[in-house]
Amino acid sequence: MQRKIDEFLKDVNTVAIAGHVNPDGDCVGSCMGMYLYLRDNHPEIGADVYLEKPRSSFDMIEDIDKARQVCSAVRYDLLILLDISSQDRIGVAGALLKTADRVLCLDHHKTNRDHYTWLFNYPDLSSTCEVVWNFLDPEKISEKCAEALYMGIVHDTGVFQYSCTSPRTMRIAASLMEKGIPFSRIVDSTYYEKTFIQNQLLGRALMESFLMFDGKMIVSCIRKRDMDFYNASPADMDGIVSQMRNTAGVEVSVFMYELETGKWKASLRSVDKVDVSVVAQIYGGGGHARAAGVTMQGSCYDVVNNLTLYLEKELV
Ligand code: 5GP
Ligand code: MN
Repeated sequence: MQRKIDEFLKDVNTVAIAGHVNPDGDCVGSCMGMYLYLRDNHPEIGADVYLEKPRSSFDMIEDIDKARQVCSAVRYDLLILLDISSQDRIGVAGALLKTADRVLCLDHHKTNRDHYTWLFNYPDLSSTCEVVWNFLDPEKISEKCAEALYMGIVHDTGVFQYSCTSPRTMRIAASLMEKGIPFSRIVDSTYYEKTFIQNQLLGRALMESFLMFDGKMIVSCIRKRDMDFYNASPADMDGIVSQMRNTAGVEVSVFMYELETGKWKASLRSVDKVDVSVVAQIYGGGGHARAAGVTMQGSCYDVVNNLTLYLEKELV
């Protein structure tokens, strides 16, 4: 039987909700969706939500300005971790892991193998928002909570395109839509809309991309000095790797940007054959079969060489 969030709230007075570093749409959607559900249905519980500074495209999400970037409280009765993939990615609320009485982790990353008081990890579900929805009473989901959950599902399914989308995902999206949410605006302003700088960076990454393995793999990178020139942050790189993946004939796309000199964040996407989470895990990262990420040291050529050691076997 599906378990519900209320079971985990018995004797709980304080709750912290936290996501992962550089929070994406599913992370923000699931954390804010859970926060708004507790706010609406359990006002007696003191709930705080922790998210690294969310990008401005998420501004339409209710109470996003309440998300805390600094962890001042020492402990909570319950820590709810959402979409984190692995313990070392908790970010701003990392210290709470040691002090919280109980930890409930809801996720959909097959690479999440850490231990918590409770871990409910469903790699077959499209998004952590879909996982969270299953833990909530649909009758008690408000319109604002529905907006947050819908946004997360939209982002992790690439607007219901990726293979992680299922009939069940669509039914959940439909039930959220029935709450009266502005679904077009959510997709437009949180997913498709880009700043001028983001589009320029996308253009640059595409211009400088190159193909490998008979056009089955596409690679590109943006250096720190170029990011500095555009005054760009990691959030501005969102979507570049997916656009590269749309190239005809490509099976795997690899996009990386320099976090600091000699340290690269690589994003990997696959169309339908290669499990890119395997190679990400080899180098200490993780994710899903079709979307994974990892941080690696060296020059960008070192990173490509190391990744292709494995990918070549899958692609040639
Ligand atoms: P992205 O490439 O968009 O950053 O991430 C793609 C997927 O891989 C996301 O589900 C993300 O949570 C996961 N991911 C990205 N980087 C890492 C990492 O360094 N470690 C782990 N465990 N997962 C990651
Ligand atoms: Mn997710």
